[in-house]
Amino acid sequence: MLRTCELRHPKLTVMVRQSELFLPLRREDPRGEEFANAKLLLRGGYIDKLSSGVFTMLPLGFMVLRRIEQIVREGMERLHAQEFSMPALQTPAIWEETGRWATLPPEMFQFSDRSDRPVGLAMTHEEVIFDLVRRTVRSAHELPISLYQFQTKFRDEPRPKSGLIRGREFLMKDLYSFHASPEDLETYYRAVMDEYRTIFAQCGLEAIVVEASGGIFTKNPSHEFQIIASSGEDRIILCERGDFAQNSEIASAASPCPKCGGALREERSVEVGNTFRFYDKYANDMRGYVQGASGEKLPILLASYGIGIGRLMATIVEARHDEKGIVWPDRVAPFAVHLLVLGSHEGLFREAERLGNALQDKGIAVLYDDRVNVSAGEKLATADLLGMPQRVVVSSKTFASGKAELKRRDESEARLVATQEIIEIILLTTNTNHTNIRIAPSV
Ligand code: ATP
Ligand code: MG
Repeated sequence: MLRTCELRHPKLTVMVRQSELFLPLRREDPRGEEFANAKLLLRGGYIDKLSSGVFTMLPLGFMVLRRIEQIVREGMERLHAQEFSMPALQTPAIWEETGRWATLPPEMFQFSDRSDRPVGLAMTHEEVIFDLVRRTVRSAHELPISLYQFQTKFRDEPRPKSGLIRGREFLMKDLYSFHASPEDLETYYRAVMDEYRTIFAQCGLEAIVVEASGGIFTKNPSHEFQIIASSGEDRIILCERGDFAQNSEIASAASPCPKCGGALREERSVEVGNTFRFYDKYANDMRGYVQGASGEKLPILLASYGIGIGRLMATIVEARHDEKGIVWPDRVAPFAVHLLVLGSHEGLFREAERLGNALQDKGIAVLYDDRVNVSAGEKLATADLLGMPQRVVVSSKTFASGKAELKRRDESEARLVATQEIIEIILLTTNTNHTNIRIAPSV
C-alpha cells in the first residue's frame, strides 16, 4: 500500500495578475439558469456552458476542482487506497454478465463504432474493476485491495438543469474495495464513511449520512452523504436530535423517530457522495473467487464509494453564497487572497505588488487585480462575486497612512491595517493547508 505524501502535489505558490488570467466575467445573470451555482460560476468566469449539462472548467474553476480533488485524494491516501485510472469506452461483454448493458440505458450512452459493433461510455466502473480483480487476484492473502480514480463519467440525464449538480459529463471520484470476509468489508466500509465526513467538512460542508435503498442489487442499505440546501432535488427525513436520517424515497410514513421517538422533519438536500456494500453480488454474477487459507473457494466481496467532484463544487456554492456572490471556504478557494488596487497612481501598484510578493513568499496564493481603467465599484463587486476568503484593498486613502484595508469575505466589516501586519493576520487566519497548484499563469 502507498504511504501518504508520496502522491501529494508539489507545493507551488503563485501570485496571478488578474489582467493576465483568462477570466471571462459576465455582468448579467446567464439566461435560463435558476440555480445559484450555475449563475455565480458562469458570471464569475469559473465555468462555461457548452450545451445542456456539459461544461468547460475555465482556469479559475479548474483550480477549485483541483483543490477539491486534493482534499479527496488525501482522504483516499489515509484509507491506503491506490490511485489509478480506468477507460471510459466500453464494450458489452462484461456488462452483459451483470445484465446492466440492457438495464443501464437510456442513462448509459450506447452507440456503434465504425464497424457497427456496440460501444458505450461508462457511467460507473464496478464491472470493469471486478473483471480486472477476478483475472489478477488468486488468493485471499492478496486481499483487501482498494483502488480509486478521478474520472469523467457520462450519463444521459433527463433533466440537466441544475448547473454542475447534474451534468451529462462530470468528474467523479470512485473507490472500490475488495475483501475476503464480510467483517473486513464492514470495517473498511465504516472507515470510508468516517473519511467521507472529514472530506466534506474540509470542503466547508456538514454532510448528513442518510440511509437509502441499496438499489436493485443489494438488500443492504446504501448510504448517501447529503448536504441540506433549499435548491436540492432530494428530500431527506431527519430526527431533530440527529440520531436518524433516511432518504424520503425509502422512509416509511412513521412520524416519530424510530430510534428515540423524537420529532422528524423533512429537508431538501443534495447528494454529494454515495457508498454501497455489494458483498458477493458481483462474485455471483461475474464468477470471481479467491482461494482461502485451507484451499476453499471464497467469493470476492465488493463495496464501492462515489463522490461527485463537480457536484461538490456546485454544492459548496449553493450552501455558501450571498446576494453578492460566492463565499469559498479556505481550502477550496482558488486563491486565499484577492488583492485589489483602487486608483491609478503608480505608487499604489508598486505598494500592492510588494504586498502580494510578500504574501506569495509566505506560501499564500494571491489573485492580484492589477487591471487599469476598471472602476473601484466594479473591482469590489468582482471580488465579492469571485469570493476569495480574504480581500486586501490598496487605495490612495490607505496608502497615505501606510495601511491597507483587510476584509474577510464572510465578514461585513473591513479594517485598516498596517501593511506589515496584514501578512501576519492573513497567515494566522488562513488554513495553511491551502496547497497551491500551478494552473493559472504566474507572474
Ligand atoms: P443522483 O441520484 O443524484 O442521480 P446517483 O445515485 O445516480 O445520483 P451515484 O451513481 O451514486 O449517483 O454516483 C456517485 C456520485 O456521483 C453521486 O453521489 C454524485 O455526487 C455524483 N453524481 C451522480 N450523478 C451526477 C451527475 N449527473 N452530475 C454530477 N455529479 C453526479
Ligand atoms: Mg443518477
